[in-house]
Amino acid sequence: MTEGSDTIFSKIIRREIPAQIVFENDKVLAFRDISPQAPTHILVIPKQALKDLASAQPQDAALLGELLLAVAAIARKEGLEAGGYRVVINNGAGAGQTVFHLHMHILGGRKFAWPPG
Ligand code: AMP
Repeated sequence: MTEGSDTIFSKIIRREIPAQIVFENDKVLAFRDISPQAPTHILVIPKQALKDLASAQPQDAALLGELLLAVAAIARKEGLEAGGYRVVINNGAGAGQTVFHLHMHILGGRKFAWPPG
């Protein structure tokens, strides 16, 4: 696995900067996006820093599964299932990634266009 560098998300994990945390277990942390792009916008991250999806290795399979299961559980708890929700991973700057610590966006509470912009 390629370690992510020390990002703003590492600081959130270490509680050095505040965040609105909605879910936490030993491997996963989820908090509200500071600049929401939908009525509900939550970021789900591994506590173990991984730079991006492309850096994931076979030994990260269980962690990736944990992240997806956390996404589904959080979306259910937030009441997003009925209306549908979108899950996004931006991989690389060209795709819009700005924080190089793997994260999944959960977006819900409004209609979404396809293809995405
Ligand atoms: P991405 O562009 O996919 O790398 O997503 C990074 C996301 O992190 C953006 O949606 C930002 O609004 C969000 N973000 C940046 N800093 C913070 C922060 N301190 N707390 C919560 N979300 C943040």
